[in-house]
Amino acid sequence: MQTYLLYGSKDIRLSEKLIPEPGPEEILIKPKFTGICGSDIHYFQHGYCGNFFPKQPFALGHEFAGVVQQLGANVKNFKVGDEVAVDPSMPCGTCKHCKSGHYNLCLSMRYFGSASCEPHIDGSMGQFLVAPSSNCYRLPIGISLAQASLLEPLCVAMHAVKQVKQIAGNSILITGGGPIGQLILRVVKAFGAFDVTVSDVNDFARAFSLKSGASNVVNPIDANVWTHLNNFDVVFEASGSPNALADAIQNTRRGGSVVLVGTLPSNFSIPGNLIMNKELKLFGSFRFANVFEEAMKMVAAGIINLDGIVTHSFSFNNIPQAMECALAKDNVMKVQIEL
Ligand SMILES: [Zn+2]
Ligand SMILES: [Zn+2]
Repeated sequence: MQTYLLYGSKDIRLSEKLIPEPGPEEILIKPKFTGICGSDIHYFQHGYCGNFFPKQPFALGHEFAGVVQQLGANVKNFKVGDEVAVDPSMPCGTCKHCKSGHYNLCLSMRYFGSASCEPHIDGSMGQFLVAPSSNCYRLPIGISLAQASLLEPLCVAMHAVKQVKQIAGNSILITGGGPIGQLILRVVKAFGAFDVTVSDVNDFARAFSLKSGASNVVNPIDANVWTHLNNFDVVFEASGSPNALADAIQNTRRGGSVVLVGTLPSNFSIPGNLIMNKELKLFGSFRFANVFEEAMKMVAAGIINLDGIVTHSFSFNNIPQAMECALAKDNVMKVQIEL
């Protein structure tokens, strides 16, 4: 089979590999759509992502959906040709975090298309991959394969929203109008938010947010933007910018909540006294747990609408161009590859 392997910064090569053989509890899948995530862009740009330094070439891609090609000996609940979405998380299942239901915090987590575990697990930028059958979800009526490849980032957004108990009736601020910010916008609206403001320095992201139903958009660069917009009940920091986090903490009401879902730099200062004297609640949100099926059903039922999130599509042969397009971020929301 053919697969694109990451060799280093800006170095993705079309390579030949053997088609993997599914184990007894596994399924061989042909990915049909895969989205490009911020982490894929990091790997492509720098050759590594955060603390994850690849030790051998591997295939990127963890936001995917595809078609069942072959079943492992013990897999009974799927058939060849089924369309499936795949939860890319493969936790150990036995550690304290897994046992308590927080499997996204598993220290031995294996994840498709990530160098966070060894050996690295090839992701969906290849013609085939094997996945545990327990990670696969047959698509219900009402959701296409192309939409299903957005479920992984949607789950990241849902997990962030679920950190906070009360969304209905509340005023929400989202700092960062990229794909995760946009998906949080759609989730909080589905959960009954009273109004939602999105802040982003990028014109395209602000215009996109208004089209997606934001009540207000602000450019945080403008002086005085926060004079009339503040006292938010809940703020989601989805940009990874220390300035945005400072805005978030500044503009959350007393007793309100701030959820950190963007990847921030390792070292910067935060206004700690504001957190203390406003009694803010601070939540970290990392990947997701226990929401995949719920997210899939909400999309299938039309409760969460994913229309328009994919702004650019490429074919398998143009994966390097797709990565360049995602990296350029020029009027781009989500880049998708049809395999
Ligand atoms: Zn992702
Ligand atoms: Zn574990």
